[in-house]
Amino acid sequence: MSTNPRVASAGTAPSLIGHYINGKLHDSGRHLEVSNPATGQVCKRVALASQETVGAAVAAAGTAFPAWRDTPPGKRARVLFNFKQLLEDHAEELAALLTEEHGKVIDDAMGEIRRGIEVVEYACGAPDLLKGEYSKNAGPGIDCWSEQQPLGVVAGITPFNFPAMVPMWMFPIAIACGNTFVLKPSEKDPGPSLLLAKLLARAGLPDGVFNVVNGDKVAVDALLGDARVAAVSFVGSTPVAEYIYQTGTQAGKRVQALGGAKNHAVVMPDADIDNAVSALMGAAFGSCGERCMAISVAVCVGEKTADQVVTKLQHQIDSLKIGNGADASNDMGPLITSEHRDKVRAHIESGITEGADLAVDGRGLVVADHADGFFLGASLFDHVTPDMRIYREEIFGPVLCVVRVDSQQEAMRLINAHEFGNGTCIFTRDGEAARYFTDHIEVGMVGVNVALPVPIASQSFGGWKRSLFGDLYAYGPDAVRFYTHRKTITQRWPAGGVRESRSFAFPSHND
Ligand code: NAD
Repeated sequence: MSTNPRVASAGTAPSLIGHYINGKLHDSGRHLEVSNPATGQVCKRVALASQETVGAAVAAAGTAFPAWRDTPPGKRARVLFNFKQLLEDHAEELAALLTEEHGKVIDDAMGEIRRGIEVVEYACGAPDLLKGEYSKNAGPGIDCWSEQQPLGVVAGITPFNFPAMVPMWMFPIAIACGNTFVLKPSEKDPGPSLLLAKLLARAGLPDGVFNVVNGDKVAVDALLGDARVAAVSFVGSTPVAEYIYQTGTQAGKRVQALGGAKNHAVVMPDADIDNAVSALMGAAFGSCGERCMAISVAVCVGEKTADQVVTKLQHQIDSLKIGNGADASNDMGPLITSEHRDKVRAHIESGITEGADLAVDGRGLVVADHADGFFLGASLFDHVTPDMRIYREEIFGPVLCVVRVDSQQEAMRLINAHEFGNGTCIFTRDGEAARYFTDHIEVGMVGVNVALPVPIASQSFGGWKRSLFGDLYAYGPDAVRFYTHRKTITQRWPAGGVRESRSFAFPSHND
């Protein structure tokens, strides 16, 4: 990555986003420019960690671990309660930062923060989440119980598209469970992580419990290669997720690696088509399609359904308001970088070449006073077929593909055959069809008349197939399992001077 033209030498302004290690900010030799995607102007620089920087962060987390592990869960929860309040108090500041570096519309940024706060609220239940299980009188004078003990130093590596929420899927539960944490956020929008670090410190979190190393593959590889890191949570694209999972597990770490997606929405002939189309608009074009749960394929059952959906989508796309995310009246902002915009454009061109009908072409969009912003209008393809690249690959932009099928079975066969299995949904008024769908669809998160079925904080988030490498989902009860070792203790206190007799048979409970 050091050959990237956006890597700048250390210099003067704009302001530098450093690393946060043991409660202090640090710089390191290499830097990268961070742009405001709406204006295309460089707004910050971010320090890129070396192996030594990562080593220092892991060492700080290792030093902080014993005292934090021994801090009662109730006391840890009190820090998280304070943190939750500080997040509420600083939500607008955090949202402005998200919009400046990511480009998403300010309301959308507030929604992201709200979802992150919900995970913090869940983590505040640490005393209850960690109370374990107890079996009294497992044998004569014998009691047996299980505890959830922390792993030690754990790391989180996160993507650009939710720079506040995805880190908050990870560290609140990890630290609630008594671990210490090293976060490696996306280098494309690193600012929010440092604000989160500042708020955690103000909430009373001891130095070293939460650290941030900014950087690229160098930082990621240093975390994967550091034997002191017990576990890695990753969220990002599938090729990197697979790499992280393989490298991390080979090094003996516990790894959960959430990857990419291609989420289908099935529109049945009996659906409330107006509702379905409104839901599709938000799910396909919200956050400029840069969501792992974005709907990128609408599978319409029957020609009549497809004709209605396409016509209504065309009308709604015409009325989309696209512009700077700082203006809350906009529906959609820019893409994250000019490189990513070019990649999405290339996908549109491949769809045309492969014979799909481009019903709405977003490539000509001009946003007044934002000539250098990374904008791309919403595009709609009709008559997409499963062999096309725009169907097979994750585009991660404002492009919705309509596939026409004859039956629910055919729609479900398509979804089940796809390499990804993150989210899906069905629009219908038929309970039997919906139940059959939820029972037999091979996808991790399923909606019924809900286009973005992102689970609440007390459930867990994860996909099937190549959308997740590992066994446990993010946040919710799975995260408590992921960030803890189960330890089971069997204890005997013989009563009334009872003596133990010698026995060479394997202990059983038949006595
Ligand atoms: P990405 O995979 O490019 O980057 C994710 C993280 O990995 C970043 O911190 C980045 O610095 C690091 N990284 C990038 N290339 C690397 C490499 N070669 N080796 C080691 N580390 C590397 O993902 P992104 O573009 O930031 O985010 C978009 C992707 O994330 C999409 O595919 C989206 O579907 C996925 N995503 C998935 C979920 C989910 O829950 N499944 C949620 C959000 C985003």
